[in-house]
Amino acid sequence: MPGTPAPRRLLVAGNWKMNGDRTLAATLCAAAAAAARAAPEVDVAVFPPATLLEQAAAALSGTPVAVGGQTCHGERDGAHTGALSAGMLRDAGCRSVLVGHSEVRTEQAQDDAAVARSVAAARAAGLAPILCVGETRAEREAGRAREVVERQIGAVLAGRPDAADGLDVAYEPVWAIGTGRSATPAEAGEVHGWIRGLLEGARGGRARILYGGSVTPDNIGGFLAVPGVDGVLVGGRSLDPTAFTSLVEAARAAAVRRLADRRRP
Ligand code: PEP
Repeated sequence: MPGTPAPRRLLVAGNWKMNGDRTLAATLCAAAAAAARAAPEVDVAVFPPATLLEQAAAALSGTPVAVGGQTCHGERDGAHTGALSAGMLRDAGCRSVLVGHSEVRTEQAQDDAAVARSVAAARAAGLAPILCVGETRAEREAGRAREVVERQIGAVLAGRPDAADGLDVAYEPVWAIGTGRSATPAEAGEVHGWIRGLLEGARGGRARILYGGSVTPDNIGGFLAVPGVDGVLVGGRSLDPTAFTSLVEAARAAAVRRLADRRRP
């Protein structure tokens, strides 16, 4: 359609967290590559732990699957024992990085300002950051979900009119991560609407907004039926090659449906 921007490509991203060894990595990479080749309408990315990044990058080189780090430090280098810079991730073959995952925010006491520095560092190193945001159960029950998500995103967008350019965001309610209790598609859609409003004002029209939190092959279809959901960030199910393949297949089906809907007069 003339004048209509191309739809955002759906992304299926697998966060392996602190799981896996070389053997599992080889299996997961082979499955991700095969799934991505069979689903050219969607983007696929995996986020292995640091020890497996180079192996994954080598295994996935020449395939459509992007490799990313699970976090990065806000500084380029220096005395930060145990940390990884964005440049190091890039050097290891990464194209992307998760920033502000709730487990990192909590376990490493990462505040909004540190998350914003990591996003800036990722961009400076040429990585595509995926900014993770989301409220706790207590915050949701207190009616503060919107305030929390807007604060977390605002810290990254602050003072830069083009801050959302090249950024993807994952809405991951903390209470849904690894609990087996996902948000409903309607809950996700509501928060995605708030986030979209913030991103549009910061040249984020192309930014994807993913949903994450106990996504499975059984519930992904409900999320991707919501027009504002541009993909999924998956933890537990990304460690099962069969499940991850099913997730990519489901995203492909959703992408094909969306394209057909756009073509319909
Ligand atoms: C995550 O860690 O980003 C996540 C969404 O995990 P899970 O799919 O296991 O809830």
